[in-house]
Amino acid sequence: MSIDPHPTPEAKLARFTEHTSGGHARWTGPRNGPAPRLRHSGRQWRILDLAFRVRWGREPVGPVRPGCGVPWCLAGEHLEDARDRKAFRAIGL
Ligand SMILES: [Zn+2]
Repeated sequence: MSIDPHPTPEAKLARFTEHTSGGHARWTGPRNGPAPRLRHSGRQWRILDLAFRVRWGREPVGPVRPGCGVPWCLAGEHLEDARDRKAFRAIGL
């Protein structure tokens, strides 16, 4: 059995995240079609959920999407969940 050099899914996420111009970030790891794929400890992780949790320190509510419009952008600041979208709508954003 090989030893995983990344002890946590968060560490793996950081390893495969590349920051790009404009404050965005992209996934450089394995993909399943266009969708980034992160496997750790035998399970599949949703990378946008992970990136959201790392940045905001809470579990996302509903699907996480990049509010910047860049597909699969991983920049934590750009990610929003259903709770954020509801709050943004309430203040007219
Ligand atoms: Zn972005």
